[in-house]
Amino acid sequence: MDRSEPGIVVVGALGRMGRALQEAALSAGLPVEGLVDRPELSGTPSPVEGVSLALSGSWTEVAAGHRVAIVFSSPENTIEWLRSAKSHRMAIVSGTTGMGEAGEAALREAALHVPVVAAANYSVGVNLLLELVETAARTLGPAEYDAEIVEAHHKHKKDAPSGTALMLAKALAVGRGVELADVAVFGREGLPGPRPAGEIGIHAVRGGSVVGDHWVSFFGEGERIEFHHHAESRRTFAEGAVRAARWVAGRKPGLYTMRNVLGLD
Ligand code: NAD
Repeated sequence: MDRSEPGIVVVGALGRMGRALQEAALSAGLPVEGLVDRPELSGTPSPVEGVSLALSGSWTEVAAGHRVAIVFSSPENTIEWLRSAKSHRMAIVSGTTGMGEAGEAALREAALHVPVVAAANYSVGVNLLLELVETAARTLGPAEYDAEIVEAHHKHKKDAPSGTALMLAKALAVGRGVELADVAVFGREGLPGPRPAGEIGIHAVRGGSVVGDHWVSFFGEGERIEFHHHAESRRTFAEGAVRAARWVAGRKPGLYTMRNVLGLD
């Protein structure tokens, strides 16, 4: 085995992303050396052809030097993994969304001990879109352009709005030099009245098997500028996360983003 390549541990291995991650790691030539999911599923063989491993129930069974844990799991389980970083000492690529303040704190704490990449979206296209939206927001100011974000995902998604929609809203707010919390409006109903200038509207649609769509629109008087990212397959997120795993292995402890991985900084 090529020890210059990190061994990959997939956490949430039986999930939609967990399966896509095993396939992407295999295609990228990174050895899959550990699979973790809920303890009661311990011993279940991987459903992915080419991965002859059984599931483990905890990090203690898979922790080893030169391994990177790619974690796309429940928020609670991901926070547990981040809090154990001091003990397991594996680099972490975290993709779980909807972790809130506790998740942010756990990411920062883990990054004191191991290198951590965190992103609500690992697609190269979305990470480029974040840059484009920030740039557009600098020119398309709140006096002339009303900014709205719409996202659509499959009916099983647990959190709303998506972590990606929140990142896009943050990029928009940064471009406009405002605090997102001061201008964000999550959905509208009743009689909200005329739209105040400067609001950033964020709306979530759920249904069927949609992998992930995001629209960012700037509505002006007489024109409309729209960005649309359409994820056709989970594979695009999985490939980005595997790329992040290869990049983060062996780095200094710290909290990194896909901007760092893609060299956009
Ligand atoms: P899923 O429900 O299909 O899979 C989650 C897996 O985690 C399941 O196999 C489940 O058994 C496991 N799990 C849950 N609790 C656990 C625990 N306590 N211990 C061990 N394993 C546990 O979900 P999914 O569609 O694969 O998405 C997972 C996460 O990844 C979600 O937060 C989703 O929003 C996020 N996601 C992020 C990106 C990105 O690019 N960052 C892309 C897609 C999905």
